[in-house]
Amino acid sequence: MDTTCPNCERDSLQGFYHVSGVPVHTVLLMPSRDEAIHYPRGDIELGWCTTCGFISNVAFDKRLLSYSSRYEETQSCSETFGDFHRSLCDRLIKRYQLRAKRIIEIGSGKGEFISQLCERGENSGMAFDPAYVEGRVSKDAAKHVTFVTDFYSERYGRLQADLILCKMTLEHIPDTGTFIKMLRRNIHSQDTGVFFQVPDATRILNAGAFWDIYYEHCAYFTPDSLAHVFQQSGFDVEDVYRDYDGQYLMIHARPARRQIGELFCPVASIDMKAAIDLFISHVKRARATWRNRIAEKYGQDRRIALWGGGSKAVAFVNTLSLNEEIEQIVDINPHKHGTFLPGTGHPIVPPKALQEARPDLIIIMNPVYQQEINQALTELGVKAELAVLH
Ligand SMILES: [Zn+2]
Repeated sequence: MDTTCPNCERDSLQGFYHVSGVPVHTVLLMPSRDEAIHYPRGDIELGWCTTCGFISNVAFDKRLLSYSSRYEETQSCSETFGDFHRSLCDRLIKRYQLRAKRIIEIGSGKGEFISQLCERGENSGMAFDPAYVEGRVSKDAAKHVTFVTDFYSERYGRLQADLILCKMTLEHIPDTGTFIKMLRRNIHSQDTGVFFQVPDATRILNAGAFWDIYYEHCAYFTPDSLAHVFQQSGFDVEDVYRDYDGQYLMIHARPARRQIGELFCPVASIDMKAAIDLFISHVKRARATWRNRIAEKYGQDRRIALWGGGSKAVAFVNTLSLNEEIEQIVDINPHKHGTFLPGTGHPIVPPKALQEARPDLIIIMNPVYQQEINQALTELGVKAELAVLH
């Protein structure tokens, strides 16, 4: 295994977690069961850095991935997520005084967030994402934004902005150190604000959340390793905090005005060695618990459904090698209905399909949506035992 850390570039990675043969894409729309089952697979071989705390999939091969319009990552169908986006939008407008300003978004997905930010603040935006699909945001919302269906890179250095934001994208980039250094070189003004959002690996480690480890995510950050990569790349870190019920890490930075000094990270450091040891024992237990619980229900001829047809579901069923035990996977995103889960080929259905399917057990993939799901089930008149991944 290559032991060079892609975040801090020291020779200090140590392997600790392995899953072989997982589908390389977890949110790509699969139009047939056959294509879903035969989708290319890759290995996960996680190493953690004893210098900066970064976690990397050293077996990651970016050539296996294709971020195209079939990449369906949006979460904005959920009301809970919509509220989070609105509140984040308000906070960014206030913090960076975003009125008639220029904004760049790296990894803008279908463009919902930057459109909202530009529409509400009368700003103008440049949005980069190879998975952009025209027409998914309203014409009014999109008129302030120029969409570029490409990866953001050195070649876009001539474009300057008052704020550069990047949400849920850095964890897809293997060479995080190289990427953040490129971003720094692209910025010409020290007044440019930079905001990044990534999943928080601390929670994954503490919970043994193996369902949050999947192929597209080749990079996993703790507050320390996130602050580290910005600071060593020439940024002053202004703030690091957790959001969305502790699932996300947020960082605010600006081009550095001073020499690199002591690492500034306002969130308490974690003991990575202890966290990794805990993760290893928690994963072992979590896998056994879920396997037994599902096998027991299935053995009693009970019907089981999952709620949430995204990356967590793919990691959950593929890591536990679940097949006929799960009848269907529910998702509220209409673009997913009639498609199949990568790797196992489970059908993805709308919530109303449960009125006929009548599952006895529904496993909820993300606790943050539990209330929303409860309400939907009540409205549909579906009664089932609920279990939640925490
Ligand atoms: Zn490192």
